[in-house]
Amino acid sequence: MTQPTYSIVAPIYNEEGNIPLLYDRISQVMNSTGESWELVLVNDGSKDRSPELIRELCEKDNRVKGIFFARNFGHQIAVTAGIDYASGRAVVLIDADLQDPPEVILEMIERWKAGYEVVYAVRAERRGESKFKLWTAKLFYRIIYRITDVNIPLDTGDFRLMDERVVRVLRQMREHNRFIRGMTSWVGFKQTGVNYIREARYSGETKYPFRKMLRFAWDAVTGFSYFPLQVMIYFSGLFGFLAMMTVPIIALLRITQGEEFFGGQATTIVLLLLMSAFQLFFLFIMGQYVARIYDETRDRPLYVVANTANLPDKPNISYRGQGHSPYLVADTANIDE
Ligand code: UDP
Ligand code: MG
Repeated sequence: MTQPTYSIVAPIYNEEGNIPLLYDRISQVMNSTGESWELVLVNDGSKDRSPELIRELCEKDNRVKGIFFARNFGHQIAVTAGIDYASGRAVVLIDADLQDPPEVILEMIERWKAGYEVVYAVRAERRGESKFKLWTAKLFYRIIYRITDVNIPLDTGDFRLMDERVVRVLRQMREHNRFIRGMTSWVGFKQTGVNYIREARYSGETKYPFRKMLRFAWDAVTGFSYFPLQVMIYFSGLFGFLAMMTVPIIALLRITQGEEFFGGQATTIVLLLLMSAFQLFFLFIMGQYVARIYDETRDRPLYVVANTANLPDKPNISYRGQGHSPYLVADTANIDE
């Protein structure tokens, strides 16, 4: 099989209303380049007709490749599998709901040809999303930018083009709680951005309810920053300082105002509860990091592939880490590896 120039990777979770148009728009744009391409669709355990639609496309056009997960593993994991199986000289990540206009890929290609290895798309404007989502997203990107050690560009999603050199590095990064836009920044190389207007979802609803968004935000913070752990030192300093100040203040008040001053049980109870709340909060934060250490040491495969279409069973990874296989294909499990 000859290597296609471009691989377009789209994660699919209940996107039956978007798949036909996604294929049409992507093939139109990609055909206009005059170069070879493939479209890798990762079915992330959809419960609607998405897998059937993907299979139909794969039969009709062998440039369409299908990866079918054994269950829903989540957006970032689906994208990871797409990256593992893609074989293009440049790999483009795109959402399946047409919020990311495929036409922007042409601009990314231009930059790639000018020598950039990562071209990310910056959301200059977002359409058709709730005020709450816009505001939380804006806040999220700014907090992440401030407290992480890698410079993750503001207002960028996963919509990006990556050179195969970057892709090869990403394939070796098998961390379990994944924040792919952070991981691509971490890799380095020559990076640049193109602006675009993020459209409203073509069909269906967002697959990111608030709970999933929070989880995603935590993965970003814990994956790229020690800030929540380090901030404890300031609180310990503050409380230590307050403790030292209260001794002379209470002594002084008792001398001047009488023995009974500050003798109340109520104060003690309130302070005790307040301090317990603080301590439990920080224990929770530590727990978040510990749970992630547990995920890494247990080192389960990142995903389980039930089967594929127009693709070899195994992804393009030669992983030299310790631990278990970084992926699992149900049919070939226990045969090699
Ligand atoms: N997605 C997925 N698995 C999930 C949730 C989402 O593969 O568990 C896919 C989804 O089909 C879409 C992309 O990830 O192609 C982005 O999801 P969505 O559009 O719901 O997120 P939003 O744009 O609202 O942040
Ligand atoms: Mg979307």
